[in-house]
Amino acid sequence: MTSVPARTAPARPRAARSNGQWSVDGTAPLNHNEEFKQADSGLNVRERIEQVYSREGFASIDPDDLNGRFRWWGLYTQRRPGIDGGRTAQLTSTELSDEYFMLRVRVDGGALSTEQLRVVGEISTEFGRDSADLTDRQNVQLHWVRVEDVPEIWRRLEAVGLQTTEACGDCPRVVLGSPVAGIAAEEILDPTPVIEEIVTRFIGDPELANLPRKFKSAVTGHPSQDVVHEINDISLVGVVHPELGPGYDLWVGGGLSTSAHLARRLGTFVAPAEAAEVWLAVVRIFRDYGYRRLRNKARLKYLMADWGPERFREVLQTEYLHRELPDGPPPPVPVGRGDHVGVHEQKDGRRYVGLAPTVGRVSGSTLQRLADLAESAGSRRVRLTPHQKVVVLDVDPERLDVLLTGAEELGMTANPSPFRRTTIACTGIEYCKLAIVETKATAAEAISDLERRLADLDLDTPITLHVNGCPNSCARIQTADIGLKGQLVQDGDGNQVPGFQVHLGGGLASSDRAEPGLGRTVRGLKVTADGLSEYVETVVRRYLDTRTTTA
Ligand code: SF4
Repeated sequence: MTSVPARTAPARPRAARSNGQWSVDGTAPLNHNEEFKQADSGLNVRERIEQVYSREGFASIDPDDLNGRFRWWGLYTQRRPGIDGGRTAQLTSTELSDEYFMLRVRVDGGALSTEQLRVVGEISTEFGRDSADLTDRQNVQLHWVRVEDVPEIWRRLEAVGLQTTEACGDCPRVVLGSPVAGIAAEEILDPTPVIEEIVTRFIGDPELANLPRKFKSAVTGHPSQDVVHEINDISLVGVVHPELGPGYDLWVGGGLSTSAHLARRLGTFVAPAEAAEVWLAVVRIFRDYGYRRLRNKARLKYLMADWGPERFREVLQTEYLHRELPDGPPPPVPVGRGDHVGVHEQKDGRRYVGLAPTVGRVSGSTLQRLADLAESAGSRRVRLTPHQKVVVLDVDPERLDVLLTGAEELGMTANPSPFRRTTIACTGIEYCKLAIVETKATAAEAISDLERRLADLDLDTPITLHVNGCPNSCARIQTADIGLKGQLVQDGDGNQVPGFQVHLGGGLASSDRAEPGLGRTVRGLKVTADGLSEYVETVVRRYLDTRTTTA
């Protein structure tokens, strides 16, 4: 008898796993973050903070509110002091958390009146142990904030027109804007009306408060392209259309973190009056089509990587705007450095003065004194920059010396050394739960050290140094000439010590570099925190020698 071979069932085509795109896969939540966002909007936690948590204290806070929804109001628990970087990956977020908060005050366009600056400084002094950092997203971050004090802090901020609404969370974050909007003679157009319209109409809108991830925006009309537009989810960059006049070139899908993507141009021209509507349409595409299954694949850059700019433009026009946008020109090569450091003439004849505090680290009392100083020089306005710097506007030329001398006394200079000007550092282990190494003090020490080591050099080209405390890229390491990613490394004796993986050769478009490019890691190229300035000195001297040789 011949045996009949058993028939194997034909393999069924495996169903494609959904990415959690609402418009394609439905809105059933696919992970815990999506669950808590759907269960209750992050915006709703404010009422509980005011009515319950601020009265009953830290222990009364629901975990999903504490670790999730608080972010929609700019609140993160800060790192418990004394936990070394080697334990970051071993402990849970709760174990790493202190009972104090970091509070991010959003400063859209980086624009602050001196009154607002003073109030932020006073809040820091009174409720935040005098801590304050100027961030590379034009925000101010305070630390050591207790939940009991948050309602009073909001009351004071809102009394002067400031807010923490959606300063963090899966929603539209602060809108970066040119720090010299409306005052620079060479400006192509003033982005202020667009920024104000976006903030007034859409920040705090429940329809946009549950995005797959954070959404970063930037708008500039300055020819230096001063808002790091290549690394935002959406950027509007000032251009002049040959027939339609000044307007914006639209960029979408940039972002760094552990997987860096530069934004793509859609090739469209956006008229100033339509810019807020186009911004809204791009946010809605992200909300409806963004990937929600995996949090580390949720940023808009991943959708852009799959769709490409042509399809993105088609969906934008056909499904969201219901009309075609005109083609538009790309921005020209940037003019100037765009950090606005130093003394510059405004179009009305007054001066704007860019000051460099070291890696954005200031204090509440420094901010209050800066507000007084600016006013004594005739100013009522300052702007924060995406480079952890501050610009004082409308300075009376007759009182310029008052400002410059006073700023030096505050630890801010309008004439910084090359590395004091170009170095930025993220929050690091002092406060950040994800950090592996310290950043602010390490970078500040390296700057001082490099000023001594390189005193003999006339460094005629900027070399940027960006310092991160972990593999995330809050300090934009992939876009620096020398980018440093915090990790534990081995020293010469084989001990695990704080240090950095080195990225070399990155940079955003600037007058020194026509095309943006991401820095590359060099396998095995690591440096200890203690050896940082010696390493940077070596790189700089080698660079200058090579450049001279090949010139
Ligand atoms: Fe924290 Fe890492 Fe961001 Fe630095 S880069 S602030 S350590 S998450």
